[in-house]
Amino acid sequence: MSLDDLRFDNSWARLPEAFYREVAPTAWRDTHVLDLSPLGAAQLDLEPASIEPQRLAALMAGRELLPGMRPIAQKYTGHQFGTYNPALGDGRGLLLGEAMTRQGPVDLHLKGAGQTPFSRFGDGRAVLRSSIREYLAGEAMQALGIPTTTALAVAVNGERVMRERVEPGATLLRLAPSHARFGHVEWLYQQRDVEGMRRLLQQVIERHRPALAEAENPIEALFADVIARTAETIAAWQAYGFVHGVMNTDNMSLLGLTLDYGPYAFQERFRPGWTPNHTDAEGRYAYDRQPGVALWNLMVLAQSLTPLVDAGRLRDRLDDFEPALEAAYARRMRARLGLAESRDDDATLAADWLSLLARHEADFHSAFRALGAYRGDDESRRQLAAHLEIPADDPALVAWLEAYRTRLEEESRSAETRQRAMDAVNPCYILRHRPLQQVIAAAEAGDPGPLRRLRERLAVPFVPHEDGAEDWTSPPPRDAPPVVLSCSS
Ligand code: AMP
Ligand code: MG
Ligand code: MG
Repeated sequence: MSLDDLRFDNSWARLPEAFYREVAPTAWRDTHVLDLSPLGAAQLDLEPASIEPQRLAALMAGRELLPGMRPIAQKYTGHQFGTYNPALGDGRGLLLGEAMTRQGPVDLHLKGAGQTPFSRFGDGRAVLRSSIREYLAGEAMQALGIPTTTALAVAVNGERVMRERVEPGATLLRLAPSHARFGHVEWLYQQRDVEGMRRLLQQVIERHRPALAEAENPIEALFADVIARTAETIAAWQAYGFVHGVMNTDNMSLLGLTLDYGPYAFQERFRPGWTPNHTDAEGRYAYDRQPGVALWNLMVLAQSLTPLVDAGRLRDRLDDFEPALEAAYARRMRARLGLAESRDDDATLAADWLSLLARHEADFHSAFRALGAYRGDDESRRQLAAHLEIPADDPALVAWLEAYRTRLEEESRSAETRQRAMDAVNPCYILRHRPLQQVIAAAEAGDPGPLRRLRERLAVPFVPHEDGAEDWTSPPPRDAPPVVLSCSS
């Protein structure tokens, strides 16, 4: 199978016309594919080698379409930092078509495709920096088992795009089973378009959650599904130190996917109240607020669903969010801590571990990996302490390790088995800021090699490698300034 063999459906274009505008992509100059994701290709049932580079470049340049594609810009709205904004929609990305794969439909969304009727004052462009950031985030999240949009490829073009500085233009060919957002439902609610809302939600059910069609009220069942999946995804963000940065409701997926990578970051030196997004001065979307924000966003979605589902039933479903999140988080953390069984105090053990890391601003990721090597004796306590840069006699560390050792003794697994299990969920490779910057700088200078090599590591993040001069695993130095990112990408 090659790109030209993909079969497209355009279900969105069968919805009422107000849902979208047909827009042709803008044709960019000198487009080169910098990296192609084997994971992305697999999602489309394609062998990477079968994808003709020229054909993909022409597609990502906005110069050619594949047979059956019908590009549209989707209309949606949303709450941005708590305030409703009616003027949203695909302002710099187009849904080119929905590929019908063995796993179901997959949207091909070209981000950076030029202006649309929803661009407002934006230029419809994407820069290379932000396109690489989104590309690698999709790879990293996918490999950690965190629901996410992904991408087939990232391409640079010959456009010069004005941001804080002039930057190379780029496009990302983003993949997702669907780009349906909370903001789509909000928009229909605000329009008082109940029939449109019913059509949209029925389509989501038919195409993505067919089992829910059998429920007494399929739309209520879909809401329950969104709650359960959002809880899973946010729990995974928390367990892996991911900070989304812009959890506006238009960036929330009805399929529970991590959607729209902007000023996101993974925690490195752990600071629970931190966000990388410098426009978020109040820390509305800080790491430790993400679960609460997700619930707030789900309440906005519930409000929007009131024309179709009884408000009391929606409230009942909302009550399911916190327990679902706690259960999913507990499951992830138990695995990360190497606990095979479940005990009442495990949540406290996990919380105390993270407090310890936070108090010393220890590295969120290598800490778990290092904990796998802990054997319960003084020598391995000293090794762990050295790794975390915590004094070996730190009373909180000593007390925590004592509790951990006691807890481990309640289980029958050998230390080696526990470490193997931990190594399978605690990555050596996480998307760190410094390597990301290095990869971006190299790509901007014309060398996509580092991008490819980092992508390969992130796609198999649990297996250590000898990376020579490229240091992709060290935490930032203690005195490194905190990462600050802007929304304008
Ligand atoms: P985001 O912060 O990426 O979620 O985007 C918020 C809104 O701004 C969405 O409606 C986007 O389509 C729009 N937008 C973001 N960047 C651009 C751009 N460069 N040109 C046009 N619209 C944009
Ligand atoms: Mg967005
Ligand atoms: Mg964005």
